[in-house]
Amino acid sequence: MKQETHWIRYSLYIISVVLHWSDSNNERMRTDRMIEERSKRGKAMVERRQLFIEMRGQNFDVIRLSTYRTACKLRFVQKRCNLHLVDVWNMIEAFRDSGLNTMDHNAEINVSRLETIVSSIYYQLNKRLPTMHQINVEQSISLLLNFMVATYDSEGHGKLSIFSMKSMLATMCGGKIVDKLRCIFSQISDSNGVMAFAKFDQFLHEVLKLPTAVFEGPSFGYTEHSVRTCFPQQKKILLNTFLDILMADPPPQCLVWLPLMHRLANVENAFHPVECSYCRSESMMGFRYRCQQCHGYQLCQSCFWRGHANGPHSNQHQMKEHSSWKSPAKTLSHAISKSLGCVPIGELPHPLFPEQLDKPQDSVPHTVGRI
Ligand SMILES: [Zn+2]
Ligand SMILES: [Zn+2]
Repeated sequence: MKQETHWIRYSLYIISVVLHWSDSNNERMRTDRMIEERSKRGKAMVERRQLFIEMRGQNFDVIRLSTYRTACKLRFVQKRCNLHLVDVWNMIEAFRDSGLNTMDHNAEINVSRLETIVSSIYYQLNKRLPTMHQINVEQSISLLLNFMVATYDSEGHGKLSIFSMKSMLATMCGGKIVDKLRCIFSQISDSNGVMAFAKFDQFLHEVLKLPTAVFEGPSFGYTEHSVRTCFPQQKKILLNTFLDILMADPPPQCLVWLPLMHRLANVENAFHPVECSYCRSESMMGFRYRCQQCHGYQLCQSCFWRGHANGPHSNQHQMKEHSSWKSPAKTLSHAISKSLGCVPIGELPHPLFPEQLDKPQDSVPHTVGRI
């Protein structure tokens, strides 16, 4: 009997120890989780500021032309978030895989659902990239989420509309501008392939939050006149007309930064073996600007964008923008062949597309489907 009591006591002791241990273990796990979540939130907050601090560090605000300033800032955000590596076609696939195609544009998703979508975009991207060029997925997710929330949920509701999210990602991802515009058109047109003005207006409302997020709202923020500046006559707009207008030179004023962002991307590695007449650097990268009045006066993009001028040259002079370098010999041969009619002129800025949109094709990503 005595032994039995002892055994019961001992068992109770063991049970209480186990319970206590499991309690404290649970407690520890809970605490660990809280610390982890807090540090995640803390880290995310740091990175949210980090993107803007880094952007400020680039000194874009000294660029006096607002179009170049805006395009440079958004290109910076795009690259910092590694969105330039995600082609628009991969973006369309990601929307489809996340089941967003079946959801109403005005439906809202919360930030954790957005995080899941964004995470899958980056994990899929890393699968496509060679081992040497893998991106830091966690950091990219955090930077992009913070930027999207700052841009589209400034009041902190913790929710974004499907249309905001699609408009932002389809505009800021990589790929050709013509493909992006086709995708955007698929979002704002009816089943007959005719653009709905109200939807285009909604698109402008969303997409012009991007310049606003990088403090360029005064130049490119949304106004109720934005649609009219793009399409002065309210006639029937089909795909090719839409592309003609948005890809025109110059493009509509409120969206002028978008094709420029693409041109910036295309010239980032353009090398010009000529000296800048202002800063005297021996060669230039990016755009090169040649004065149409002063013989041999050329500026690098950094000097031109900042309005630098010296000698007899004034920043009121007309400048020509060059995106590549042609040696004088090549320029001469180009001019000769042009005069002999060997160079095609009047090339279309985009191919002609059938006006009726293709039906969504799940298995063929390179067909324009509705995203
Ligand atoms: Zn220079
Ligand atoms: Zn000049």
